[in-house]
Amino acid sequence: MALKNFTKTKIMATIGPASDSVKMLRALVDEGVDVFRLNMGHMAHDVARVVIGRIRAISSRVGILVDLQGPKTRLTEMEAPFTLETGDQIEVHAGEEASTRQALYIPFGELVEKLEVGHRLLIDDGLVQLKVTRGLPEGGIVCEALNQGEVKSRKGVAAPDLRLIPDHYLDAGDLDDIAFAARSKVDFVAASFVSRAADIAAVRNALGKAGREIHIVAKIESRVGVDNLAEIIDAADGVMVARGDLGVEIPPEEVPLVQKQIIRACTEKAKPVVVATQMLDSMVHQPVASRAETSDVANAILDGTDAVMLSAETSVGSYPLEAVRTMAKISRYTEREGTLGKDRFNRPSSNAVEFVCKAAARCAGELEVKAIVSLTASGFTARNMASFHPRVPIFATTPNQLVVRRLAISYGVYCIQAEHIGRYNVMLYRSLQKLKELGLLADDDLVAVIGGVPVGKPGSTNLLQVETVKVLMTVE
Ligand code: PGA
Ligand code: MN
Repeated sequence: MALKNFTKTKIMATIGPASDSVKMLRALVDEGVDVFRLNMGHMAHDVARVVIGRIRAISSRVGILVDLQGPKTRLTEMEAPFTLETGDQIEVHAGEEASTRQALYIPFGELVEKLEVGHRLLIDDGLVQLKVTRGLPEGGIVCEALNQGEVKSRKGVAAPDLRLIPDHYLDAGDLDDIAFAARSKVDFVAASFVSRAADIAAVRNALGKAGREIHIVAKIESRVGVDNLAEIIDAADGVMVARGDLGVEIPPEEVPLVQKQIIRACTEKAKPVVVATQMLDSMVHQPVASRAETSDVANAILDGTDAVMLSAETSVGSYPLEAVRTMAKISRYTEREGTLGKDRFNRPSSNAVEFVCKAAARCAGELEVKAIVSLTASGFTARNMASFHPRVPIFATTPNQLVVRRLAISYGVYCIQAEHIGRYNVMLYRSLQKLKELGLLADDDLVAVIGGVPVGKPGSTNLLQVETVKVLMTVE
């Protein structure tokens, strides 16, 4: 049966040396992975090309996301790592020169210029914390180490006391990765360190004609990104709560509430949202999750996320299959409770599509409905439906296999390809027929169908039918 290992919460897994073999990719799909992430910071194009080929050969349903590096601020290269002791002084300068024990170099000049005495500079996910003690007359600053730690080549640098927008959102490397993503016909591109809507426009523009079907996921991982959340959600096709960098750029204790804020804002606009990073981090080295991690995954689901993501757990960890299995188990159990609460039915609708979807979700909660059936050409209606987190699965049918994969990050959606030609009732007949053939529905099942007439016009959903499959299939 096709719904083996189905979870309403979608699972995204990052691919790396621990998971890029054909055997492992297939096993991960079997365990329930919906989308594979290829992190361009860690994967060369020739490797990525092979991996994409393998994934496509294994499944035409699984989505592929290419994650761009974006304008993450980093130290320059250095010859050898060194240790700073608490209280040690070190200079920090703007520039591309190699960093040394005497002076660290950061290519993002404005960052060094704007830092003032007392501001913090966090290196390598905050493992090394520096504080500015004075400016230098010839430019640059002097910092003091607030803890003992090792400084390594090209590690990330965060200045949480500043709100800076890099001048160029995309550098030559990102443009190259975008061209690669477009050529490879992946399903999603993730834009890192998004500060504003214009950054998403830059990615869309760079994707060009070859990449116009690719959906863009905006990663919120800075204070400015949180500040400009509304315009970013409007511009993007989906959003990621990128807690790894976010928890360095803003105080980590603020992240849980920001996560809830981002999820709520995305849900209201029917844009899919993914919670990412360290979800099952201890599973990188051991086969079981900690209680805190288990709660974290469950709570992200209860917050109303569409998808949860694994990073090092599946890319370099020792237990990638166990990590996916654990995530799937937590999802299946937590989803039984219903995830967004009744509040979602109080959300005012701004058009007929939203109202029909809300009514269908409510119907699924009150009647013994087996599934919601959604006829969707572009995926727009199914995404709207998903934003109400109905109790039952959303069986979406679309004529377009690309749409099947794009819906791989939307909560509760199980999409299949079915011809959408002819009159509405013919289309519905064919869709139900296909769902029956797959063993997903039976004649006596009660379903809530959302659809629209006239057919073929995006956003024209204006019908809700609550009926048994059998009766719906006899309507002329
Ligand atoms: P990354 O993004 O893994 O590409 O850094 C996710 C995050 O920062 O949480
Ligand atoms: Mn990040």
